[in-house]
Amino acid sequence: MSIKNICCLGAGYVGGPTCSVIAWKCPDIKVTVVDLSVERIAQWNSEKLPIYEPLLDDVVKECRGKNLFFTNDIKTAILEADLIFISVNTPTKTFGNGKGRAADLKYVEGAARMIADIAQSDKIVVEKSTVPVRAAESIQNILYANNKPGVTYHILSNPEFLAEGTAINDLLYADRVLIGGENSGAIEQLCKIYEHWIPRKNILTTNTWSSELSKLAANAMLAQRVSSINSLSAVCEATGADVSEVARAVGLDSRIGSKFLQASIGGSCFQKDILNLVYICECLNLPEVAAYWQQVIDMNEYQKSRFTAKVVQALFNTVSGKNIALLGFAFKKNTGDTRESPAIYVAKTLLDEGATLNIYDPKVEESQIFKDLTHPSICESPEQVRKTVKVCEDAYSATKGTHAIVVCTEWDEFMVLDYKKIYDGMMKPAFIFDGRKILDHEKLLEYGFHVQTIGKQLRKPTPPPRMTNNHHV
Ligand code: NAD
Repeated sequence: MSIKNICCLGAGYVGGPTCSVIAWKCPDIKVTVVDLSVERIAQWNSEKLPIYEPLLDDVVKECRGKNLFFTNDIKTAILEADLIFISVNTPTKTFGNGKGRAADLKYVEGAARMIADIAQSDKIVVEKSTVPVRAAESIQNILYANNKPGVTYHILSNPEFLAEGTAINDLLYADRVLIGGENSGAIEQLCKIYEHWIPRKNILTTNTWSSELSKLAANAMLAQRVSSINSLSAVCEATGADVSEVARAVGLDSRIGSKFLQASIGGSCFQKDILNLVYICECLNLPEVAAYWQQVIDMNEYQKSRFTAKVVQALFNTVSGKNIALLGFAFKKNTGDTRESPAIYVAKTLLDEGATLNIYDPKVEESQIFKDLTHPSICESPEQVRKTVKVCEDAYSATKGTHAIVVCTEWDEFMVLDYKKIYDGMMKPAFIFDGRKILDHEKLLEYGFHVQTIGKQLRKPTPPPRMTNNHHV
């Protein structure tokens, strides 16, 4: 038998793009993406998709209504499916045992229970969410404890390696597809789906636990590179070395390679997975290993706090009553996702210090910005946030009349703004903090900006800003 019907539980950043690409590349397979959220499914069926991802609109428009469907009718989708992807969220636990570190598997468990309740025929159940090692065992236990006579389940692990902002490309040209499992027939069925566009040699099969651990390991090692270069950025700032030059010199060594050596403000989507790895190591009684990976997270936190402290310090040690523009709120460019975005940390710190903020991001909705900044873990007074934060339509209105600009996301459009015009509209002295190292610092210095960035000492602006009556500090 070959797979004719796929159901995906979870229409998020992974489920949506992954299943859209599968539908596009496998016109002979019906792909149904389901979610508990009525609003999210309505958005997937509308002109404005719930997530922004380059090329995603084109792929969805090509297949939607033909062999790609988005629905809240979870029951029918599970009944019809030969293969079910579990692509639900696995956030960090916010309560109880493992709070702040362990992955919260309640959505994975909920998905497994739904399958167990509804399924009437054999299913291949594919764990696509990022989970702790041996989570597949829990899924299996739930499915078999609630088994109906004659229904067989095969559980596979098939972690997703896509990165937001480049998801479609990552899916189309994946370095590798990883499938872990014990049943060769089920593995073969999933291989056949990917073989529609991925060369067989790039499809790796392993045992289930290796597959689950490989996803955590890959994210941990990527984050480790970022933390390593970020740690060196502090050394650069203290010595006069330039972290971009160091990264280039180091990265040209073919044993090291140049990718993921870009120092920045810190923060990434890896945090929850590494926290999860640390927690697993602790549970396995491997405290040295846990401490090793914990340091990767600590370095990320240090980088964020170091950068924000620098902003406050440069602004004469007080931002109280000052108006500051935040350019970018998403955790990286080409996505509207703000989960674990360093901009949230920067905004929180500046608000706590008494600043007022103008925020502009090309893809993050105003409602999302307020949702993030009024979250109980971020602020005590949502009303105060609403009074002191303004979400702006573009970078020019966001920066007008402000004392400083903080670049929090590396959006391409921030590189080509008219910074002379922006400088003229700002309070003087005008400061710019480039947390992503994307701007032309020499040009900014020529315009008169005081410029600070990561991993590099910069000279004072030339010509020095002229003192006139209407220049305010
Ligand atoms: P997400 O929050 O965007 O989407 C998850 C969706 O699952 C939500 O819409 C939620 O309503 C839905 N859901 C929860 N329980 C459900 C159920 N029982 N039935 C149907 N729908 C249900 O999350 P995401 O970013 O797509 O991540 C999903 C998983 O993939 C996570 O484990 C994540 O760690 C992993 N992952 C994410 C990325 C990424 O870049 N976002 C990359 C690789 C792996």
